[in-house]
Amino acid sequence: MKLLYPAQRYQCIQCGKSCGEWRIWVEPELIPRLRQHPLALRLEVAGHPYLSRDEESGWSFLEYDSQRRCLFLQDEHLCGLHASSGWLSKPRACRQFPFFLVETPEGVQVGLSFRCSAVQQDLGVDWAEHQADLNQLIESGCYLRIGFEPAQFGLDSLPWSDYQDWERSWRLSLSERSLEQIFYRHLNPILPAPEFTRLLQGWTLSACQLLQIQLPAAQPQVHPHSRRYFEHVLERKYLWLGGDLLGRMALMLVGERLLWGALGAGRSWSEAFDLVEGQWLGHREDLGPIQAGLAQTLLQFQR
Ligand code: SF4
Repeated sequence: MKLLYPAQRYQCIQCGKSCGEWRIWVEPELIPRLRQHPLALRLEVAGHPYLSRDEESGWSFLEYDSQRRCLFLQDEHLCGLHASSGWLSKPRACRQFPFFLVETPEGVQVGLSFRCSAVQQDLGVDWAEHQADLNQLIESGCYLRIGFEPAQFGLDSLPWSDYQDWERSWRLSLSERSLEQIFYRHLNPILPAPEFTRLLQGWTLSACQLLQIQLPAAQPQVHPHSRRYFEHVLERKYLWLGGDLLGRMALMLVGERLLWGALGAGRSWSEAFDLVEGQWLGHREDLGPIQAGLAQTLLQFQR
């Protein structure tokens, strides 16, 4: 399968962030091997349960120590499983992070999570160095297929080739204009700009309430970091990953305002990326109803 590499770079810098902040699902087929691993046996003897089971879902997750560090993490944030038994001995969730993979008519698009410290800093190696790991992930998993049928875009359907032309021009425009300015003409040909802005302000306020955060209202700006982030969100085909493209464009616009609101509140770029990527655009999976509501609102203005 042909791999489509992004402009964004990545190489793990062993910051340890993904080895403690999030729940790590352990696939059932790995559990017997994990139980036999010397490090797991050592933890068991020491009385540290390293796996927990969610009774409702039946899924198993890695446990953490009192500082919320994975129990297999060793000095200098080195994964003990990886160091002693290789990459394949880690749970799939650990091997997959920070990659997002999606199959398109041109090949498998490689995307990256901006929660990863290396990705946030654009630190990376030649993509050829990741090829073997990516091939293994692709051959052993199943991924969303997009672009083989037209997508819903409001009242229209959007063929893949038209979308690609749009994406290319949007990504080029991001060095000069905010996402809001770029998307405006696609979303609301009849809605005056000030009303569109008010609509986005209201949506962003509701998003802050949902996320239980307080952020100042902030106008999106053009900046190399925001350009790099939103260009990558487009490149990893976020708009195609479920439902109406119109609603997902609206979610991206709210994400842009959340990013600038977080920066306006004094958060660093890294913290702002963590917020938007972790809680809105990258790792949140329950925004479908909100996405549908935003698409409906925009459609009212287009009729
Ligand atoms: S967040 Fe990124 S850089 Fe840090 S340990 Fe995880 S994969 Fe490596």
